[in-house]
Amino acid sequence: MKLPYPCAKCNKEIEKQQGYEYQGRLFCEDCYMDILSPPKTCDPWAVHSAQTFLKGKDKLSTLTPLQSRIVNYIKEKGEVPVEEIITNLNLTEEELRREFAALRHMEVLRATKKDGKILYLFF
Ligand SMILES: [Zn+2]
Repeated sequence: MKLPYPCAKCNKEIEKQQGYEYQGRLFCEDCYMDILSPPKTCDPWAVHSAQTFLKGKDKLSTLTPLQSRIVNYIKEKGEVPVEEIITNLNLTEEELRREFAALRHMEVLRATKKDGKILYLFF
């Protein structure tokens, strides 16, 4: 028997022998699996964390070598005054500000002000 038969959930046409019966209704395979395994309440958060982690990782893998040097330096030191980065990484202030603007836009680094000095730190 090969009658098209709509899935009770998504209305996709299914052939009867490929459908799954549940509480007297017929479902396609996808919907049947859905019904049998409802998402656990903790899952969305786990998925979200994994995505955030991946996003963070991807973000750092797209950095230019210069951006990586700046990021790695700040990673080591925590909060770093702008002047210190310029001196230690041998950059001009303009170069650093340009790279920082890109990194700030990517939400990798941010700036804070302490005792009248600008410090760069992780976002
Ligand atoms: Zn379905």
